[in-house]
Parts: sequence; C-alpha cells; structure tokens
Amino acid sequence: MSTTCKKCSALCCNYFALELDKPTTRNDFENIRWYISHQKTSVFIQAGKWYLNVKNRCKNLDPANRCKIYGNRPAICRRLDSKNCEYHDQNAVREIKTSRQLAQYLEENPIRKRRKRK
Ligand code: SF4
Ligand code: SF4
Repeated sequence: MSTTCKKCSALCCNYFALELDKPTTRNDFENIRWYISHQKTSVFIQAGKWYLNVKNRCKNLDPANRCKIYGNRPAICRRLDSKNCEYHDQNAVREIKTSRQLAQYLEENPIRKRRKRK
C-alpha cells in the first residue's frame, strides 16, 4: 500500500462510478435528473467525460478503512494510481448532486439545437 493511501480514509473505496454517454439532448438531461433524484447518487464530469457516481462503501473495507482482500482486490482497484487520485484534488471534478445544480449547469452550458437537414 502506498504512503499516500496509508494517510487516506479510503476515498476511492466509498463509491463506484460508471461512464455515461455525454448528454446532449433535453431527454439525456432528464435521464440524469432522474439518476440524481435517487439517494447516494450523483454525476460528475472529469476531463470532459461524464460518470454516474454511486456512493456506496465497498463490502471489502474494514472498519479501519483497510481493504480486507488487498492481495486479491479487483483489477480496477489495482489500476488506480495513488499519485493521481482524488486524495490530491477533490475539486478536480464537477459533481452534480441536485436538480438545482443540474439546472445551473444547463444555464452555463445551454443545449445546442441541432440544425434540421433540408
Ligand atoms: S488511491 Fe487515493 S483515494 Fe484511494 S486510498 Fe489511496 S490515496 Fe486514498
Ligand atoms: S476491493 Fe478493496 S481496494 Fe477495491 S474498492 Fe473494495 S476495499 Fe477498496
């Protein structure tokens, strides 16, 4: 385990995230509004990519925030580099947790209307 991880409260083990298609239409944003209506769910944008974020503690984490299956942890856990993780900059992503925040995002980034083909 890295020195950084030893100081951390296992931030990366308290959620999982799935990449979403980038929303472009009113319907896409309505789907996002539905996702974030659920408890412990948000979306975040990182480097232009959108993710569905489910805040749910991993079952393999012990009360001291240590992985109980460290030697056999899933590949996705092994790939995470503690030099480049959320421990260092938790503001590197834009998280949208509420309908109000989503409306704010849409005010800043209005949906572009597609031109109709002639
Ligand atoms: S990889 Fe980063 S977020 Fe995960 S335990 Fe280590 S320092 Fe914390
Ligand atoms: S398996 Fe271990 S390293 Fe992976 S998320 Fe769970 S507690 Fe963290």
